[in-house]
Amino acid sequence: MPTTDFRISARDGRARTGAITTPRGTIRTPAFMPVGTAATVKGMMPESVRETGADILLGNTYHLMLRPGAERVDRLGGLHRFMNWGGPILTDSGGFQVMSLAGLRKLTEDGVTFKSHIDGSKHALSPERSMEIQRLLGSDIVMCFDECPALPADRKRIEESMRLSMRWAQRSRDAFGDRPGHMLFGIQQGGLEQDLRAESAEALTAIGFDGYAIGGLAVGEGQEAMFGCLDFAPDQLPEDRPRYLMGVGKPDDIVGAVKRGIDMMDCVLPSRSGRTGQAWTRRGQVNLKNARHADDPRPLDEDCTCPACRNYSRAYLHHVQRAGEMIAGMLLTWHNLHYYQELMGEMRDAIAAGAFDAFEARFHADRAAGDIDRL
Ligand SMILES: [Zn+2]
Repeated sequence: MPTTDFRISARDGRARTGAITTPRGTIRTPAFMPVGTAATVKGMMPESVRETGADILLGNTYHLMLRPGAERVDRLGGLHRFMNWGGPILTDSGGFQVMSLAGLRKLTEDGVTFKSHIDGSKHALSPERSMEIQRLLGSDIVMCFDECPALPADRKRIEESMRLSMRWAQRSRDAFGDRPGHMLFGIQQGGLEQDLRAESAEALTAIGFDGYAIGGLAVGEGQEAMFGCLDFAPDQLPEDRPRYLMGVGKPDDIVGAVKRGIDMMDCVLPSRSGRTGQAWTRRGQVNLKNARHADDPRPLDEDCTCPACRNYSRAYLHHVQRAGEMIAGMLLTWHNLHYYQELMGEMRDAIAAGAFDAFEARFHADRAAGDIDRL
């Protein structure tokens, strides 16, 4: 019977490295998951995403249930086959995006009804329906259906929302059933409140999940507040299960999260930035739209081995970006995803070598040095 497993192979301070094993492949942790919202990482062929070093992709339940529809994906052989990605896929529950994208929401104990942001059609999501959709998609790592209030919110609102999410977590667990080879993750809520986070962690642990996500962060609270919460939240969760910080983030957010014991992250940032002329490098952010690059024959990052840096100049990247050519988004998305995966690999190596502090110091020093001088 195909099974899943999580092994921690080394620790350095609170940081851990290891691997999640699934029937569809191994996920090296800490892992960054590129976001394949609508069954594609925008601008990338799946084999190119794999080449950047990604072990796992994220798919969005909300988007896929609206278009093309979960039942249709199931009829066509499941999401892996549909989008030609053979590796593991994690799907979110749809809850967060209903809150952030859909119009005219109505929230009850049972679930949420909403209007599609695409065509205004009416839909419903509940813990049971979210589990069904994620099963139809064929997701390897399924997320509990939860509710996440935008911050800032008052304590009473956060508390009520967290308790609702814990009742939904039990219903998600019951509806998920026993599915060997697939994992179900619970989602801790509680805003920035330590006692509410602890209550949430206790409720989830009592139910029992294959992994635990930290939800409700990276929703506008700022890095300092997020790190403040990560100073205690991961340690409230079971030590021997994967910990997933949802929706994070910028490279320095990621490094700070891994330092605090996070094993998995996802974010649209590297792909979204790539489509707007923004590159992430070890020396920080570079805006390729800037006229300073127009005559620059040098690569974006001479130490980077991605196709954008190996084969093209800053001048070319600037030109295709300015001209609105598709290849601009393709090359910069590739570079950004490659950079993110290199960063994860460096952190895994540093943790294994017991050298995370030295890695972190170098990471910040390189960024502080800034982009190469203009010609
Ligand atoms: Zn590159």
